[in-house]
Amino acid sequence: MQHDFCPGGALAVPRGDEIVPTVNRLAANFRTVVLTQDWHPAGHLSFASAHPGKSPYEIIAMPYGAQVLWPDHCVQGTRGAAFHGGLDIPHAGLVIRKGTDRAIDSYSALYENDRTTPTGLTGYLRERGIERLFVAGLALDFCVRYSAEDAVREGFAVVVIEDACRGIDVAGSMAATRSSFAALGVAAIAAREPVAATGPRIGS
Ligand SMILES: [Zn+2]
Repeated sequence: MQHDFCPGGALAVPRGDEIVPTVNRLAANFRTVVLTQDWHPAGHLSFASAHPGKSPYEIIAMPYGAQVLWPDHCVQGTRGAAFHGGLDIPHAGLVIRKGTDRAIDSYSALYENDRTTPTGLTGYLRERGIERLFVAGLALDFCVRYSAEDAVREGFAVVVIEDACRGIDVAGSMAATRSSFAALGVAAIAAREPVAATGPRIGS
């Protein structure tokens, strides 16, 4: 939940700011909360501006695979990279800053986009005995999707709280996300659903 991903920001997710109250309310129910923060150096290679002649939302081949090019966003230390001012999760114990390597983008909270360089989050969660993750935020079809996919691969049970997310939908990415979640067994629920109905470990 960062300024640049909300309306008025450099890479705004439509209606991205709407979910802030829901995210706050959900987070209050959990003992272990991890925030993620896109944290790019200037000139990051996910920025269209770093590739002469390219425009935002074009897709190029990077050494680790296809990469959507984005407007410059979430540059380290800028207001755009700061958390949304309405975010109110003082008990969050960890902030994962990702995308800090100029040459590799990082959608997932667990791995950079090469799918092999870990952020360390898996170890943090395992050492704390966490078995199930509830994911919310922006954007559903990129950072939420990749985080959920990687978490399933790491053996966590994963629930995406869909109405506590908003998508951006680039080149069919929303449809691809839904297919992927179905194939991997990522559960999608609504924030209004009683969380206790999903199992006894809520709050862990
Ligand atoms: Zn980014």
